[in-house]
Amino acid sequence: MSTETVTAVAGAFIDGREHANGGDPLPVTNPGTGEVFAEVPGATARDVDTAVDAAARAGAEWSALAVSKRGEILGAAAHHVEAHLDELVPLLTREQGKTLRDSRIELTKAVDTLMHYVGLAKTLRGAHTPGLDPGVDGIVLRRPLGVVGAIVPWNFPTTLLCNKLAPALVAGNTVVAKPAGTTPLTTLRFCELLAEGGLPAGVFNVVTGSGSLTGTALVRHPLVRKIAFTGSTPVGEQIMALAAPGMKRVTLELGGSDPMIICDDADLDAAASAASMGRFYNCGQACLAIKRVYVFESVADQVIEAVAAKAKRLKVGRGDVKGSQMGPLHTAAQREEVAGQVARTLEQGGTLLAGGGPPEDPELEAGFFYAPTVVADPPHDVPMATEEVFGPALPIWRVADLDEAIARANASPFGLGSSVWTRDLGRARQAAERIEAGYTWINSRTKVYDELPFGGWKSSGYGKEHGSEAFDYYTETKSVVFGSQS
Ligand code: NDP
Repeated sequence: MSTETVTAVAGAFIDGREHANGGDPLPVTNPGTGEVFAEVPGATARDVDTAVDAAARAGAEWSALAVSKRGEILGAAAHHVEAHLDELVPLLTREQGKTLRDSRIELTKAVDTLMHYVGLAKTLRGAHTPGLDPGVDGIVLRRPLGVVGAIVPWNFPTTLLCNKLAPALVAGNTVVAKPAGTTPLTTLRFCELLAEGGLPAGVFNVVTGSGSLTGTALVRHPLVRKIAFTGSTPVGEQIMALAAPGMKRVTLELGGSDPMIICDDADLDAAASAASMGRFYNCGQACLAIKRVYVFESVADQVIEAVAAKAKRLKVGRGDVKGSQMGPLHTAAQREEVAGQVARTLEQGGTLLAGGGPPEDPELEAGFFYAPTVVADPPHDVPMATEEVFGPALPIWRVADLDEAIARANASPFGLGSSVWTRDLGRARQAAERIEAGYTWINSRTKVYDELPFGGWKSSGYGKEHGSEAFDYYTETKSVVFGSQS
């Protein structure tokens, strides 16, 4: 029997206050216990309309402020959120499942990203070209787009939101966000805290609900000028099509199947640690997780053994229990999908070296747990190689040399991140130039920096987040020519 009390929540935060959505209630489940603890009504098309109208109204004043003033206001609001991390951390763990430690890392990073763009506010510039013709000058103006719809998945609800919110707001846009239907609560409270911290009403609004109803209504809304989306590749493709009428701008941060190449001259201990961290962090539910490892034959046994040993040692447990290193998968369906991908892979070959099913601990039976899993040397056309595995299961293959490793790395529809471990500068450079991906880490953990642009190639997406480049995706430019009579 459930021990959780089910809390009813209004479901939206619009124009500076809570707003009661008109749609059917959606359950919010604790992935560590499998119990429903809140119900949130979904936003209908009418609720989305109310949010977009509020954002459009607020945009007139917000975009007219000096960019430094917008930065100042957002910075103060971000500090108010930071002062409430102790409240947000357990809430994120409860609805998402991740450990308390990982919730704190995520939320701290979300605030950092807001502050990063606050710091960049005064750098937002256009351009001037003198002497286009005798006595004729050109300038390039930059203008905000208007209302931005931000659609975010459940694996990192707050950082993926702030990657959009920060450059959008600093550039003078207003935002309506839709978190995943299964993780509405932290985002709603985050929005409320920003408002308490001084962000003007209507500048940032949140509508919760399902992707198919609320998300679609947001993408289709005629006043929404841009959709900033993070999620799976199939839904990204749908969104690109839905956004075509009216030529809405889109940035699409989609799925990945990031390869890691370990050469025979690498620091093998460090590489094995990076593989384990890169695959099992956040229970493997990260777009940038390491999802395929290619290791040189001569050092393969050592690496495979080290990674399998690390997987077996990881302490799997409920996110809110001290000492847990890896929490549950986010939903039962997510666990089923990962289990299916592993099972279909093993049917075709490969050796299971760790995990391969839920952990044996009876305390974890009710939650959506799956043990850290390592499979060595399956064929190259199995689901774990060709599909995105969004959970804690890692395939490792032996390769003859760098050419084979790069060819295997690129034999994927995805092109998000990648990593290479070698002490040879020539190999590192070749890999960085030849791997088809938006990011390559060399002898480094796969960590995303706000300073560098991030975005996928091929089916991993379109456009960039992070870096000063993100501003390009939240502004339109206009060329103005001053003739000789001006
Ligand atoms: P989904 O694409 O299923 O969902 C993402 C968001 O889109 C959710 O808010 C969802 O709502 C919403 N949505 C779903 N259908 C529609 C629709 N038709 N119109 C508008 N919105 C819609 O992704 P997952 O939840 O499965 O998230 C995991 C995926 O995200 C993985 O593929 C992962 O690689 C990718 N990802 C990419 C990152 C990157 O930066 N490249 C970073 C992190 C994750 P709801 O859930 O309520 O249905």
